[in-house]
Amino acid sequence: MDTYHFTRDIRHETGYDLVIAGGGPGGCGAAISAARQGARVLLVEASGCLGGMGSSGLVAAWSHMSNGKHSVIGGLMLELVETMYDRGFIAPTYDERFWTTIHNRGLGFNAEGYKLLLDELCRASGVEVRFFTRVLDAEVTDHTVNGIILHNVEGFSFVETPTVIDATGDAILTHACGAAIRRAGQDTPNIMPPTLCSLQTGIDYKVFNRGLQQEAVDRALADGFFSQPDRHVPGLFRSGEHFATLNAGHLFDADALDTASLSEAMCQGRRLAWEYNEFFRKYVPGCERMELVTTAALLGVRESRRIVGEAELTADDYRARRTFPDQIAIYCKQTDIHVYAPTPEEYARYHKEFEEADLLQPGEYYGLPYGILVPKDWKNLWVAGRCCSSDLKVNGAIRDQPACIMMGQAAGTAAVQALRTGQQANTLNTQTLVKSLRDQGANLP
Ligand SMILES: Cc1cc2nc3c(=O)[nH]c(=O)nc-3n(C[C@H](O)[C@H](O)[C@H](O)COP(=O)(O)OP(=O)(O)OC[C@H]3O[C@@H](n4cnc5c(N)ncnc54)[C@H](O)[C@@H]3O)c2cc1C
Repeated sequence: MDTYHFTRDIRHETGYDLVIAGGGPGGCGAAISAARQGARVLLVEASGCLGGMGSSGLVAAWSHMSNGKHSVIGGLMLELVETMYDRGFIAPTYDERFWTTIHNRGLGFNAEGYKLLLDELCRASGVEVRFFTRVLDAEVTDHTVNGIILHNVEGFSFVETPTVIDATGDAILTHACGAAIRRAGQDTPNIMPPTLCSLQTGIDYKVFNRGLQQEAVDRALADGFFSQPDRHVPGLFRSGEHFATLNAGHLFDADALDTASLSEAMCQGRRLAWEYNEFFRKYVPGCERMELVTTAALLGVRESRRIVGEAELTADDYRARRTFPDQIAIYCKQTDIHVYAPTPEEYARYHKEFEEADLLQPGEYYGLPYGILVPKDWKNLWVAGRCCSSDLKVNGAIRDQPACIMMGQAAGTAAVQALRTGQQANTLNTQTLVKSLRDQGANLP
């Protein structure tokens, strides 16, 4: 590779206790929790709103929050869902049973309501949010981050900080720090495909039956309707009175860590959104007048980078429903590895895995240990969200938003503890952390 050496003096900023890269579920969970505990928090977000996949990605749905016997969420996540419900931002078909008693079901929400609430909560807790600002790099010495390099419309700046959280989903900051990473496709022949989600309106909910989607997909495939024979269509998910989120159109072979591939995937995703809109109009009762409102600003990436952490959550832990003395959250979503290619073999593999999946029974859950948030040997760096340390299979369970928000709350609280006690991320006293999370209402049996 040809290289160019770039040097210049840039703005130097100080005065923060914690800088967080990325304002998705992991980053917001961390920022609000740390700021409420008195930390001076800078939250750096590349887009113009908070929420990450839940807003810019139009994944306006929270997965499982109850295991059928009890809720698995607590703390900030519980506060978010209750507040969204009270303010009418949860879609009409859902109520509190979906996070207290109903077994393993998600719920849809209004992405604009979510953005508004996150703005308000950040403002109320004193988080400084910097939109349209990208974390580019970091200066590190001996597994310690001294500060990070940002860029926005004002130019570059170096922000000195004693603690840092990477909540970029793609582990952009951790990778820039030189910490060990697992890259998508490293251990598998292909990368799990992303999807560009979209917002749809004009659905007649008196007629529409989500259970009939698959049968319609099979009919359309038999007619040769689709440009790619993708049988795995998660489909429409009600997210408001008159609208729905559409999760359809796998972007096979797209690599979120390759800009050319990512760019191509966005164009392909927009094309597929129109194709699926047409499919629903033609084949699914109640969708005859369905209209595509918008596609997402962010590609729905399922797999890019996962850190190598102090601990790793594995499929064995999932199968054993393992709990941990230092667990920072519990969760109950099943593993979910999407098809890697639109081939009959892949669908057979997917269905077999899904049918034989070790689904959690009522009352079951597994724990998320603290060490999955800490890049191995790092002293003042944490991650929160999809890029946590987990094998691919179990990542398909805990990358979902409720788990990411709970990881965020734990990472933010751990950073505050480190600031107050001088402890390091990789040797933090986890008994103190767990107590502190419980004091904040975390659901840690
Ligand atoms: C198609 C699809 C469907 C899904 N369905 C569901 C579902 O039904 N229910 C559910 O709960 N979960 C679902 N998920 C999973 C979930 O949405 C994500 O895994 C989760 O949002 C990850 O949270 P995160 O905080 O790690 O990252 P993200 O949500 O990706 O947020 C990362 C944020 O960081 C910002 N960022 C990135 N790089 C930088 C940078 N360098 N500097 C500054 N900011 C940066 C981004 O703009 C973004 O706002 C789905 C995911 C996909 C892709």
